[in-house]
Amino acid sequence: MAIKLSVLAEDLNSSVSELKKMLKQYDFAWNVEDESVDPDIAELLEQELGTNKSSVDEVVDKVEINLEREIVKSQRKQVAGKSNVTNSNKQSATLKTDFLEMADSISVKELSEKTGINAAKLIGELMKNGIISNINQQLDYETVALIMSEFGIVVKRLAQTSSTSELLSQDISQIMGEDDSEDLESRPPIITIMGHVDHGKTKLLDTIRNANVVASESGGITQHIAAYQIKHKEKKITFLDTPGHEAFTEMRSRGAKLTDIAILVVSAAEGVKPTTIEAINHAKEAKVPLIVAINKMDLDTANPDKVKSELAEYEVLPEDWGGEVPMVPISALTGMGVEDLLDTIVLLSDVNQYKANPKRPPVCTVVETHVAPGLGPVATIVVNAGTLELGQPFVVGDAYGKVKSLLDDKGNKLNSLPPSGAALLAGLSKTPHAGDVLQVTNSDKEARLRAEEIAMHRKNEFLNGANNLLEIVSRIKSGSLKVLKLIVKTDTKGSFDAISQSLAKIKHDEVTTKIIHYGVGAVTQSDIAMATASGAIVISFHTETDPNVQKIAEQRGVEVRNYKIIYELIDDITQFLSGMLEPEEVRIDLGKAEVRQIFFTKRKEMIVGLKITNGLLKKSAKIEVVKDDEVIGVGQLLGLQKGTESVTEIKAPNECGIKFKGNIALEEGMKLQAYEIEIRQRSL
Ligand code: GDP
Repeated sequence: MAIKLSVLAEDLNSSVSELKKMLKQYDFAWNVEDESVDPDIAELLEQELGTNKSSVDEVVDKVEINLEREIVKSQRKQVAGKSNVTNSNKQSATLKTDFLEMADSISVKELSEKTGINAAKLIGELMKNGIISNINQQLDYETVALIMSEFGIVVKRLAQTSSTSELLSQDISQIMGEDDSEDLESRPPIITIMGHVDHGKTKLLDTIRNANVVASESGGITQHIAAYQIKHKEKKITFLDTPGHEAFTEMRSRGAKLTDIAILVVSAAEGVKPTTIEAINHAKEAKVPLIVAINKMDLDTANPDKVKSELAEYEVLPEDWGGEVPMVPISALTGMGVEDLLDTIVLLSDVNQYKANPKRPPVCTVVETHVAPGLGPVATIVVNAGTLELGQPFVVGDAYGKVKSLLDDKGNKLNSLPPSGAALLAGLSKTPHAGDVLQVTNSDKEARLRAEEIAMHRKNEFLNGANNLLEIVSRIKSGSLKVLKLIVKTDTKGSFDAISQSLAKIKHDEVTTKIIHYGVGAVTQSDIAMATASGAIVISFHTETDPNVQKIAEQRGVEVRNYKIIYELIDDITQFLSGMLEPEEVRIDLGKAEVRQIFFTKRKEMIVGLKITNGLLKKSAKIEVVKDDEVIGVGQLLGLQKGTESVTEIKAPNECGIKFKGNIALEEGMKLQAYEIEIRQRSL
């Protein structure tokens, strides 16, 4: 029930005008019609006036005035935190809705129009929560949710285009944010084909594409498109037509995550080759499930069992041997087994349930780019989520544009592209890079400005080498699993064995190393791409690194470390790992004091006079309250006062005033133990 200001003024031995002055000072709202305030605010005024009148000694008086403001402010926040629906609010406004959808921000005016709540009422409500606003003020989601809860209105934030910093990170999951599970719908799986050269990747992609050719509806000119979609038994499947793990890793190194399933093509006649192993490591590192296509089964020399046993050495175990990897014998040349392979893809997709929200603002990934006659710069894109539509303005890497046309691989013109859809996009200011993430913006201007921002950032990144070791260590540190990933290239297999054995001996519960790829020979461009994609460092032992590769590594900020002596290598790694350990907290006792006088008490904060009996007190010290040798409460010093002076430290023997915040009310005679926590770096 509201309390009349006149009644309150009488109670508090004050005047209505004095109360109004205070209300203004603290931005509290009052009802101008009947000159009343909410009980919460009345209570605050009561406390305010009450304490102002109490006589405390000179020292504390000074501290208190400042304190008072802080406390009132925090209480105001507490009032704001009370989100239970007040009947008065519900009744006094004619609500149009009990549900509101908003983007990142909304103006007071719009909010009023959408909800039916009078704008003045909204401004008053905002004031109560310490926010001074006018009708055009933009309010963020958190504020709106808080204020609307007072009116019983549920607020939902719509998925929005992400910030430029998120775009710069190219981290697709961060860009997409979390969609509500009820908005998610099934989408076709996206497949990449990997494997050793000449094992039949291109042939397989062609066979699948040709077997599913449907006559072009529009009779358009077929464009080269680096991704296509087929229908197999009423289920769509999207294939990235970029055979090999290079494109996959390059895309990943740019932060893109586009592949749901990797098909590893292994020739049944030739078996596992170095690139097969590389592809396995790349897929494993990206946590993408594998299906093995044992190809060239039409040849007399085909030996699928040999392939299986060779793969088993790399922990790729076929299902029929109790493993988890489906393996399908096929011939890309004759088409034998290709249907089974597609069945297997559908089966795995049914198990894994790939989903996306088709209604959110679209996010797409660039698979390949080129300049096409008549169209200018074009990009093959695949949609991660949302639905891309003609005419939408967008930013993609440091390029921008407006969706001018969307063509599928058969030359059909599309008006929109749903999740997992693939098309050739025209309307770009310039060619972006494979792996760049496309985001739709609110306007052409926003698209251009964002592209410019990204271009500038990339230039700086290029100059600074953004991914150096320090950054890798800090990135790993912020993660929950602290694993330093290594790519190891050595002169011989013997050297590698010696290094991996020594690395295995560095044991610690919290940090460890993981060799994500190794090989005999010089560091290659592919190693650098993998290091970029995985946040790994490259170790080269007794091998020369080609200056060109070294240059690419520097441009990408990948750390390539060359060693000739094993213990130096191990020493360095041990140091990196030490740097990754969480620092430890050490308690340092500072001093003891005794409570002499209680000056002022406000909920959990107090101002008290102390006598320091031992050691010293520091302004931000933690406090244990001790009674009869037992800790009966804890808290913290928020301020330290010597005489009228605010100080940071006082030594014993001395008297002082402190501002104390804790879970206990201090009483005269209580003993305090002050301490602080020192953060110390640990080493392995
Ligand atoms: P990629 O380098 O992995 O893309 O391999 P390609 O698809 O270019 O194939 C390399 C060669 O193997 C080509 O001459 C293909 O015709 C041939 N090839 C591909 N698949 C098969 C197959 O199933 N059987 C036979 N006999 N040859 C194949």
